[in-house]
Amino acid sequence: MTDTNRVKLKPGDTIGILGGGQLGRMLAMAAARLGLRCQVFSPDPDSPAFDVVLNATCAEYADVEALELFANDVDVITYEFENVPAAAAMVLDARRPVLPNRKILETTQDRLAEKDFVARLGIGTAVYADVTSVTSLREAIFRIGLPAVLKTRRFGYDGKGQAIIREGDDIAKVWTSLGTKQAILEAFVPFEREISVIAARSAAGQVECFDVTENEHRDHILKLSRAPAPIPDSLADEARSVASRIASALDYVGVLAVEMFVLANGTGPKVLVNEIAPRVHNSGHWTLDGASVSQFEQHIRAIAGWPLGKPVRHGEVVTMTNLIGDEINSYEEWLTVQGATIHIYGKGAPRPGRKMGHVTEVRPPKGK
Ligand code: AMP
Repeated sequence: MTDTNRVKLKPGDTIGILGGGQLGRMLAMAAARLGLRCQVFSPDPDSPAFDVVLNATCAEYADVEALELFANDVDVITYEFENVPAAAAMVLDARRPVLPNRKILETTQDRLAEKDFVARLGIGTAVYADVTSVTSLREAIFRIGLPAVLKTRRFGYDGKGQAIIREGDDIAKVWTSLGTKQAILEAFVPFEREISVIAARSAAGQVECFDVTENEHRDHILKLSRAPAPIPDSLADEARSVASRIASALDYVGVLAVEMFVLANGTGPKVLVNEIAPRVHNSGHWTLDGASVSQFEQHIRAIAGWPLGKPVRHGEVVTMTNLIGDEINSYEEWLTVQGATIHIYGKGAPRPGRKMGHVTEVRPPKGK
């Protein structure tokens, strides 16, 4: 493994980004503002990130030669998605520093490993069980109760690869329709709200968290974020401390997001960790227009070996609204809304559920 603690880029150096979606695109744009170049690696010729970089590699993640050539062209490598194949990460890591380090992928690609890791830190999660067969699913339901959420251990996102099981459901049918033998069952959390913390950590161990964000999902896809989340300061401090502890325990370098559930008043913990995303995150998009330094810039600074910014919010982030599918067609209306900033990702045709852009509305502090 290359020594990741020694990375110190200079303006003009090149960052390699695995993945060519909107996150890669916004990372590359943030890098450009800091005088750093990016080269994007993606198998999809229509990658929106290709539009904003000079050099791109369009190849499969299993193409070892392409990976090696890509690594030779760049000074440090990062990724915009957590499902980077382990073999690809290994090939790259032998040549250039990969940040965040590839061990983190092993934990965050597998919901069971991730939950075990969080639980080992003494941080609350939904009660969960490893499920490998219809028999073990029945046992898990007996122990955890219903309703419960069955999730594939790997490759789940935006609600894909999960099913809510309710009293009276045909358990065998739910199990078969999941289409995998590696799953976890989680107790259904009757959350009051969903929040996330976007944290940046440098190789030197400096951690900077953004204000806690409140998130609303529709059809399992993030629709709206607001910052700061309307929660007591003590709870916000607890949420930020959870994210910091996770980042430090992972020896993380870069930006990560920790999604959490806030529980209504009760006797147990007030926040439960749902998921860790080892990357910049949709719920942090508001930082582009709503803070002195964005999540994308923080990530670039961290992997470049530069000091992190100390983010200051510009005002109340009333909403960050995702433009999903056909909603992008309303871009001209958004262009005329006072105080709104629109981001269009330059993707091809809108498809249902596809994130095409977002709009941020920030209300400046009174008197400004
Ligand atoms: P995930 O893919 O784990 O991030 O889940 C997507 C969304 O499904 C979450 O943001 C929640 O809205 C919902 N969800 C996931 N797990 C649970 C759970 N154990 N209890 C209640 N809702 C859940």
